Amino acid sequence: MRLPAVDAVPPPSGDSLPDYTWARAAMVARLRAQGITHPKILAAMNTLAREQFIDEALRMRVYDDCSLPIGQGQTLSQPYIVARMTELLLSANNPVKRVLEIGTGSGYQSAVLAQCGCSVFTIERIEPFLAVAKLRHRALGLLNIRYLHRDGFNGWPSQAPFDGIIVTAAPASVPEELIAQLAPEGRLIVPIGAQGGAQRLTIITRTQAAFHCQQVDAVNFVPMLPGEQF
Ligand code: SAH
Repeated sequence: MRLPAVDAVPPPSGDSLPDYTWARAAMVARLRAQGITHPKILAAMNTLAREQFIDEALRMRVYDDCSLPIGQGQTLSQPYIVARMTELLLSANNPVKRVLEIGTGSGYQSAVLAQCGCSVFTIERIEPFLAVAKLRHRALGLLNIRYLHRDGFNGWPSQAPFDGIIVTAAPASVPEELIAQLAPEGRLIVPIGAQGGAQRLTIITRTQAAFHCQQVDAVNFVPMLPGEQF
């Protein structure tokens, strides 16, 4: 008989609701083993109830090392990718306070950023995702998040500049509007590449006179799409 993965089965908690504390701690131990070191990120992911960000039917798998569907063909990234992108963002030279996220989706990535102490501005093109994410954040007491239903290719000019911008869907090339909204020394973390083709997590840093571009991990994100949906 094949046993399920250890971190997929929460032990009995004594009440009727599953207790995911143990699965969450196992996820954080795995993140450390995968090379994540930032204490704020590890603490945030150890605190946040990731199961609140996914359909009940999928909750048993929410701490597994995989991405999960959130509806409308979109996905919640695997824990490692959320941690990795947050770490790339927060390890900038300057303190990262104001952060723009493109692609609210389930609201988990914005919750991690807010739990790390950032003021989060999150944009989503599919309106119902935004409404649900807002409710989830309120339920968890996360109040330092602002929401915009808009095509994220335009960014959020009235709130710019941002110390960091994180894009959780993949454009084919770097969106110029977003680069323009970076503060000096600010960082844009974005998966670049066509869907189905090779995508690379890319770090663009605004320096005194120019921009510095660095490609890191191979990744697999849903495409960044133009326009808004209701
Ligand atoms: N950060 C999310 C990941 C969601 S998947 C989470 O933690 O769950 C990517 C999201 O990007 C989807 O919700 C998708 O609708 C959104 N998206 C894609 N293109 C976009 C665009 N141009 N502007 C805003 N959001 C976009």
